[in-house]
Amino acid sequence: MSSGKTIVWFRRDLRIEDNPALAAAARDGSVFPVYIWCPEEEGQFYPGRVSRWWLKQSLAHLEQSLKSLGAELVMIKTQSTLSALLDCIKATEATKVVVNCLYDPVSLVRDHSIEEKLAEVGISVQSYNGDLLYEPWEIYDDEGRAFSTFDAYWDKCLNMQMEPVSLLPPWRLMPAAVTGTVERCTIEGLGLENELEKSSNALLGRGCSPGWSNADKALTEFVEQNLFDYSKSRFKVGASSTSLLSPYLHFGEISVRKVFRCVRMKQILWRREWKSQGEESVNLFLKAIGLREYSRYLCFNYPFTHERSLLSNMKYFPWNADANHFKVWRQGRTGYPLVDAGMRELWATGWIHNRIRVIVSSFAVKFLLLPWKWGMKYFWDTLLDADLECDILGWQYISGSLPDGQELEQLDCPQIQGSKFDPEGEYVRQWLPELARMPIEWIHHPWDAPLTVLKAAGVELGLNYPKPIIDIDKAREHLREAIFKMWEMEAAAKSATSDQMNEDVFDNSDSIKTSAILKVIPKEKSSCLTYSSNDQRVPSFQNCNNGLLPRKRPLPVDEEKLHMDKPNKQNKEAGTSGREDLCSTAESSASKRQKSTSSTSTSIISFAVPQYCSSSDGRPFQDHESSNLNLTWHEKIDLEQTSNKNG
Ligand SMILES: Cc1cc2nc3c(=O)[nH]c(=O)nc-3n(C[C@H](O)[C@H](O)[C@H](O)COP(=O)(O)OP(=O)(O)OC[C@H]3O[C@@H](n4cnc5c(N)ncnc54)[C@H](O)[C@@H]3O)c2cc1C
Repeated sequence: MSSGKTIVWFRRDLRIEDNPALAAAARDGSVFPVYIWCPEEEGQFYPGRVSRWWLKQSLAHLEQSLKSLGAELVMIKTQSTLSALLDCIKATEATKVVVNCLYDPVSLVRDHSIEEKLAEVGISVQSYNGDLLYEPWEIYDDEGRAFSTFDAYWDKCLNMQMEPVSLLPPWRLMPAAVTGTVERCTIEGLGLENELEKSSNALLGRGCSPGWSNADKALTEFVEQNLFDYSKSRFKVGASSTSLLSPYLHFGEISVRKVFRCVRMKQILWRREWKSQGEESVNLFLKAIGLREYSRYLCFNYPFTHERSLLSNMKYFPWNADANHFKVWRQGRTGYPLVDAGMRELWATGWIHNRIRVIVSSFAVKFLLLPWKWGMKYFWDTLLDADLECDILGWQYISGSLPDGQELEQLDCPQIQGSKFDPEGEYVRQWLPELARMPIEWIHHPWDAPLTVLKAAGVELGLNYPKPIIDIDKAREHLREAIFKMWEMEAAAKSATSDQMNEDVFDNSDSIKTSAILKVIPKEKSSCLTYSSNDQRVPSFQNCNNGLLPRKRPLPVDEEKLHMDKPNKQNKEAGTSGREDLCSTAESSASKRQKSTSSTSTSIISFAVPQYCSSSDGRPFQDHESSNLNLTWHEKIDLEQTSNKNG
C-alpha cells in the first residue's frame, strides 16, 4: 500500500460497496472521507423536504459504516464547496481528491470549476464512474454522434463488448492524520431538516428505510419476490409491483452495476429453466434501468434539456401560465379522480407509480397547457426519488419533446386510464376518501353519475368534490389550437429567418423571464457554481453540430387536420429543419458554461423564479424554450414499442 493521502468527496454515492472513488483512495493510502453541504450552490435545484430527509438518514447510515471500517465521515456545511475542499486539503496535506461523477447540468458546471481551481494549486481531482453501467462518452453511434432515441442507445449499450463490473467494499480504511482544523459539523448541524419539517417527516420513516444496507435488502427482496412477475404487474398502481429502488439509486446507495448483475443472474437461471415470463420480466426491468442510464446520457450530451425541449419544436408552444390551474393541479382538485388521487399521494408520501406520473404530468401539460418546466420543478420539490435527469426525461417524454417520446397530440382521457390502471377504483378510494362510496361504474367519472347515485355516495360535485376543471372535449380543442398556433409561429419564424441572407443564429434565453418556473415552496434564490472533472469529459457539442436529430415534423395545415382526427397515429418522420435550433441551443449552453463564474450557472437564467405568476387572466404566453456481444448476458433485450417507453 502506498502512502498517499486522499480526500474522498462523497456526493450521491452514499455506499461502501462498488464505490470506485473510495476503493481507489483506500488502495492508495490513507483516506479523508468528507460530505460537503452547500445549499447556495444547489440554486433552483435545492432538494425538497422529503429528499433532504432521505439524504439525512442515508448520511447517518454511511457515517456508521465508514466508522466500522476505521474512518470517520467529516461533514461540512459551507457557502463554497471549493473553499471547504481547500480547508480539508490544508488540514490533511492531502495531494488528491477522488470523486464519483455526476451528470446533471448543475453538478457538471460546478465540478468543472472546482477541478480547474484545484488544479491551479497543484491538487489533482480523479473522477470515477460510480453511477452508471456505461459513461455517456462511451456510447456513440458509428459516426461518433450522440444517440437521441432510447432504443438505438440501449441497443448499443447491450451490445458493448465490455461488461459492467462491480467492486467489493474495502476491508478497512486507514484514516488520514489531520494536522490543521476543519470546520466540521454534525448531521443535525447540516440543517437538512428544519424544526417545522420534523413532524411531517416522522411519518416517512414508517414507509421507507434509507441507507445502503437497506438498499441491498430492497434489491434482494425485489429480485426474490417480485421480479418474476414484473412484466405482468408493473402497471399496478397503488401496489408494490415495482422495485421501489429509485431513491436508493438516486443517492447512490446501491450500485446500478450490482442491480444489473443480480438481475442478469436470475435471467440466466430462468432461461435454463425455460421460464419465459421471468426472462421477459428481466428484459423489461433492465429496460427501466436503461432509461435511467439514458436520462444521464441525454443531460450530458444535450446539457440544455433542463431548460428547453430536446426538440426545438416546443419553443413556440403557447403555454397557459395560469397560477390558479397550477395550484389546483398540485392540490389534487382537478375533478379528475385518478389525477387528484395521484397528486394527493405525491404530497402525502413523496412517491407515485410511474404510470401515475405519466398520467398527472400529461394532464398538466395537455389538459391545462401548463409549462412542462413548472411540473418538472414541482416533482423535483416533492418526490422522494427526485432526480433531475430522470425528471427531465419524464417531462420531456410526456410533452412531445423527445423524438421517440409520447406525441404532444396524444391526449389520453383520465377516465379511460382510470378503468385501465385502477379497475377496481381502490387507488382512488384510498386517496380520495370523499369518493370512497362511489360505485365502480362512476368512480373515474363522477360527473356522469346520476344524481341519485351521487346522493347515495354522499358526493356533491362542486362542494365536497370538484367538478372537472375542464371538459375533455374542450381540453382537446384547446390542445389542438395550441399545437396549430405553435406550428404557425414556427413556420413564420422559419420563413423570417430564411429571408435573411446573412443569418445569425443566437441564443435569446438571457432575455427570458416569462418561462421561469414557479416557486412552489419558497426558497432563497441563490447563485450556483458550475463544473467537469479530470477524467470526466465535458459534453461534446460536435454531436449537436453534425448530427441530425430525428424530429417530429410540423404538419402543413390540411395534413394537420387529418392528423388531429386520428390523435394517436403519429408522424415519426425525421426532418432536418430542427437542426439549426438545436445547434444554437447546444452551443450557447456550452459557451454559457465556459463563461460561467462562481456567481453564475447555466440554470440561473431560466430558473430565476418570479414570486407571482403571469397570465392569471388565462392569456396564453409564449414559452421561449429558449449482447449479442459475443457473450451470453448480452442477449438483445426485447424492447417494447417506443411509445410505451416510460411505462
Ligand atoms: C414525469 C415523470 C417524472 C419522473 N421523475 C423521476 C424522478 O424525479 N426520479 C426518478 O428516479 N424517476 C423519475 N421518473 C421515472 C419513474 O417514474 C421512476 O423511476 C419509477 O417510478 C421509480 O419506481 P421504481 O424504482 O419502483 O421503478 P422500477 O420500475 O422498479 O424501475 C427500476 C429503476 O429504473 C429506473 N427507471 C424506471 N423507469 C424509469 C423512467 N421512466 N425514467 C428513468 N428511469 C426509470 C429507476 O431508477 C427505477 O428505480 C419520472 C417519470 C415521469 C413520467
